[in-house]
Amino acid sequence: MSCKVIFTGTGTSQGIPVIGCKCPVCTSQNPRDRRTRTSVHVIVGDIHLQVDVGPDFRQQMLANQLDRVDAVLLTHEHMDHLAGIDDLRPLIFNQKRPMPIYGTSRVLKVVRQQFPYAFASEEDRYPGAPELKAVEIDGQKPFKVEGVSVIPLPVLHGNWPVLGFRMGNFSYITDANQIPNSTYALLRGSEYLVLNALRKEPHYSHFTLDEAIDVAKKVGARHTFLTHISHDMGLEEEVSRMLPAGISLAYDGLVVEC
Ligand SMILES: [Zn+2]
Ligand SMILES: [Zn+2]
Ligand SMILES: [Zn+2]
Repeated sequence: MSCKVIFTGTGTSQGIPVIGCKCPVCTSQNPRDRRTRTSVHVIVGDIHLQVDVGPDFRQQMLANQLDRVDAVLLTHEHMDHLAGIDDLRPLIFNQKRPMPIYGTSRVLKVVRQQFPYAFASEEDRYPGAPELKAVEIDGQKPFKVEGVSVIPLPVLHGNWPVLGFRMGNFSYITDANQIPNSTYALLRGSEYLVLNALRKEPHYSHFTLDEAIDVAKKVGARHTFLTHISHDMGLEEEVSRMLPAGISLAYDGLVVEC
């Protein structure tokens, strides 16, 4: 089945440029140094899956001329990954059905707390409110979304368990700094791998550039793309020159056919 991945956002939680920052990355004229909050849009056959719906979701859909989402998958409940959920409204209205949101019980609990009006009963719902359908996933067991097989990839974000997702030969991990051996086994055979790499300096809950490169080598995918990048990483052009073959920085708007 054909698979197309659109990197809708590749920046860390503050995005790049950071408000008020005058560093070389935040003032760079290179469009690849502008990064909205991390998310990815995966089209498998004719099914559109959105992995994470950050605060830049609306602009990301417009910038990439996307107008359909069949289901949302959430990696975890940090706001840079779900604060854009209200902007699913036009899609819910056009598609005339509640939007399925896949996540673990812990993640869905936060979605319900943040967007209680999206789960209101028909009598209580405000007419312009979005309608969400929470679909709980186990986090350890493969599941299907609109007929697409998805393998959850348990990883650690600090000491907090979050998920990546594998669909066919494409594996996506954002917001991690540790990958258990059992998850390496699930990654085996991935041809395209996405990993987070925040910056060069250590961080308590994200891979550094060197750590991400080590993981990429260990997995051995045909190509690895790095995402969730901070302005501290440095200029896209300079960092790109230092990377080993088969590893590159993702950028907003990058499209990969898997
Ligand atoms: Zn994040
Ligand atoms: Zn900056
Ligand atoms: Zn996070």
